[in-house]
Amino acid sequence: MAEIVIKNVAKRFGSFTALHSIDLTIADQEFMVLLGASGCGKTTLLRIIAGLETPSQGEVWIGGRRVDHLPPRERGIAMVFQNYAVFPHLTVFENIAFGLRMKKLPQAEVDARVNRTAELMHIEQLLRRYSGQLSGGQRQRVAVARALAMEPDVILMDEPLSNLDALLRLEMRAELKGVLANSKTTTIYVTHDQVEAMSLADRISVMNGGKIVQAASPVEVYRNPAARFVGSFIGNPPMNFLPANRSAAGQWSVAGLDVPGPAAGDALEFAIRPEDLTVAAEGFAATARVVEPLGAHTLVTAEVGGQMFRAVLDSDLKVSPGDELRLSPKADRIRWFNRETGLAAG
Ligand code: ATP
Repeated sequence: MAEIVIKNVAKRFGSFTALHSIDLTIADQEFMVLLGASGCGKTTLLRIIAGLETPSQGEVWIGGRRVDHLPPRERGIAMVFQNYAVFPHLTVFENIAFGLRMKKLPQAEVDARVNRTAELMHIEQLLRRYSGQLSGGQRQRVAVARALAMEPDVILMDEPLSNLDALLRLEMRAELKGVLANSKTTTIYVTHDQVEAMSLADRISVMNGGKIVQAASPVEVYRNPAARFVGSFIGNPPMNFLPANRSAAGQWSVAGLDVPGPAAGDALEFAIRPEDLTVAAEGFAATARVVEPLGAHTLVTAEVGGQMFRAVLDSDLKVSPGDELRLSPKADRIRWFNRETGLAAG
């Protein structure tokens, strides 16, 4: 059992606070992704769990054992970091075998594990090469293979696919997902790539400014963002937002359209995802400004109530810049945020 519990962890670098009081529990065998923009504190949190950084306060527990005072090697984890430390003077085989030899596993077991993980990462043809002769992407795959070969209870990965080209990245993503789903490993995976996060995660922790804004399943963070930030960060194109007004009678009006809204609250903002809009007889009065045919859909950037508004529409619809259309929001997909706190409302 390798549940990871992070209790009230903060990290300060001088007067700068990189992490504010983080509380997070990652279940045994869960795949947790830490997602956020550059500088939000993802790597710092991962390094604290790994033991490469000391927290300014708080506790880290792995498998029921408090580990924040233990050195990395005593935490029962394997790591793959951005600057993957692959030893250039060793062959790929010996790099992958490194930790297994430290554990004094029998040669047959070492051979079996190295071959199996090398195959998974598509580097079996490189096993006799020296790692110093590899490309960045190949070295990255060696680093992942080395971690997987350890069959660890916990694996921590920081952007392990960042050096791969787009196609290989897609392939490796699927491979990794398959491998880790079939293992008993608890995984924490750092990325700023939301597609990668959505594809891999059991749960995503969305981070902003040293805080976890929401920790939930990919569908949940997409459909029910806990905060405006999450709605604007996840989804490409991001969520649309419009100011809303409530009449004395309690009816919500958004850019001149009456929409169903929460019974309570005043200073709220209306939000809808671009794919939850359809062209209909009733809807927001919109003027198309930019029309981008994307094959499966057409992305229309329009003006609604003086604001930019995006709609992902059926590619059979003929829309041209300057066209006036009515964009109707799907009632059950409308979300509301408090204009002051940015938190979900209603
Ligand atoms: P990226 O995706 O760019 O790696 P990140 O979300 O992983 O970003 P961190 O590397 O965790 O971000 O850094 C969080 C913040 O802490 C940043 O503002 C960074 O400049 C700062 N920081 C990190 N390490 C140190 C350090 N050793 N000394 C001072 N500030 C630091």
